[in-house]
Amino acid sequence: MKRTGFLFDERYLLHLPFEGHPESPARLQSIHSRLAVSGVLDKLILINAEIANQRWIEAVHKIQYILRFEEACIMGFPDFDHQDNSICRDTYEIALLAVGGILRVIDEVMNGSLDNAFCAVRPPGHHAEVDTAMGFCYFNNIAIAAKYLQKKWGVGRIGIIDFDVHHGNGTQHTFEGDPTVFYYSIHEHPSFAYPGTGREFETGKGEGVGFTLNSPVLPGRGDDEYKAMILKHLVPAFDSFKPEFILLSAGFDAHESDLMSGVNLTTQGYDFLTDEILKLVDRHTGGRLVSILEGGYNLDVLPILVENHIRRLADI
Ligand SMILES: [Zn+2]
Repeated sequence: MKRTGFLFDERYLLHLPFEGHPESPARLQSIHSRLAVSGVLDKLILINAEIANQRWIEAVHKIQYILRFEEACIMGFPDFDHQDNSICRDTYEIALLAVGGILRVIDEVMNGSLDNAFCAVRPPGHHAEVDTAMGFCYFNNIAIAAKYLQKKWGVGRIGIIDFDVHHGNGTQHTFEGDPTVFYYSIHEHPSFAYPGTGREFETGKGEGVGFTLNSPVLPGRGDDEYKAMILKHLVPAFDSFKPEFILLSAGFDAHESDLMSGVNLTTQGYDFLTDEILKLVDRHTGGRLVSILEGGYNLDVLPILVENHIRRLADI
């Protein structure tokens, strides 16, 4: 069994989009209650959130954007930048708590108190751009985590894997010119799939060419395509890049029962993804992995997928 951290905080439930919005507090409640009932929660090391220092948010986002987001919440606006990004007065603070909790988890992994961790955070982050909120995301949690690992802890090469069914446009754009952070995404494309980026020819810019890799999956496809692309694209790329730390944008909306996508990954398909990522972690990072919740909207399936994922991380 591993020392696996579980980041969760009741305050993450206080970000309240409009009634009926898919990115609801019930997502985290369903995960937490499933882990409690199954007994998995007792085997994890609970980490609570704290407010992130703004200097770390500024490592990714423009100060004008941060202030604009804070003001939109204080003023009681219903949404921010786009009507998808529904906000309430607490959203700014909860977004700071999501980032701050993740940075605390990274400290615990880097100082050796934890082997790895799952971060059950809201709001999600991978669509957030430097100066624009997108797709229910305000601060790019995983991009900030990568910058923190480099600036605070001096980690050289960071591998980001993103298996959310939507392409992590914000994460890719943050690092597309940076050869020290490898961004790999497997996602649905093309069709109506949001956000429309993440095509195979997007491989980075300038010094970063070769350190962005996208595996688009056609609507209607599922486990076979995912397995082939993970083995053909991700595994050799990371074996060559040799990341010292792996961060995972863990989105569970590629599942066949999730209405937010048209691909049909099964529960066993998700198990395969986690297993292959853990093999890379064992080979390259000495076990260091921080998995951060992104999407996943079927409240019956999301908690099962997260439990399976965490059982593998914790080796229980
Ligand atoms: Zn998604």
